[in-house]
Amino acid sequence: MRLRYVKGSKELIASHEGIVHNPKELCGRWHEFFGNTYPIRLEIGMGKGKFLSSLAMQNPDVNYIGIEKYEAVILRALEKKEELGLTNLALMCEYASDLKEIFAEGEIDMIYLNFSDPWPKDRHAKRRLTSDTYLDMYKVILKKGGILQFKTDNTGLFDFSVERATACGWDITALTKDLHSSEFVNGNVCTEYEEKFVSEGKKICFMQAQYPCK
Ligand code: SAH
Repeated sequence: MRLRYVKGSKELIASHEGIVHNPKELCGRWHEFFGNTYPIRLEIGMGKGKFLSSLAMQNPDVNYIGIEKYEAVILRALEKKEELGLTNLALMCEYASDLKEIFAEGEIDMIYLNFSDPWPKDRHAKRRLTSDTYLDMYKVILKKGGILQFKTDNTGLFDFSVERATACGWDITALTKDLHSSEFVNGNVCTEYEEKFVSEGKKICFMQAQYPCK
């Protein structure tokens, strides 16, 4: 993502009450945090938050958590959350690494990865959000039968992700390299990146995977 410097965003995010500053303290207590027993869905690398804020508005009986590493970017998501008064959307400004410190086993119902950084160089493959290390973490924090959903315009990253998910024992339950001409487009909510790529005529790859035995 091309990052514009947004003056004061670091300070604003660091002290804003609309951001979760102590996510590790909430490990195993996220339902308590939301004050209900609704399912909890997570987007890693949420960007400016269009996708999650639309879902949170559509589905008041689902809780959403967005993780984004850049203050200047999550600030936009925070503005949407506040404008729309979304109490079922939690935001954290973190670099997602050890998610098992933030979420207890089986605490998450679904994970979304949308237009994740491709890290095209082989020596950076471990940083991809669909590398084995991440996939193994997702297995732990997802509940039994939980879903990992992935969208990207990058076919290299997509092929890598399908290959690694299969090798790591996930069942691929949905797969297309042209989401917008496929049956899976029903109910699809576009992200910021997706809207841009679709308007440029690019095809969107889409995968859903489920880890069969926990
Ligand atoms: N999901 C959004 C943004 C995609 S760009 C959309 O589809 O429009 C990828 C985003 O992921 C960037 O904003 C980047 O800062 C964030 N990101 C990448 N790796 C991350 C990580 N490990 N932890 C948190 N955010 C990450």
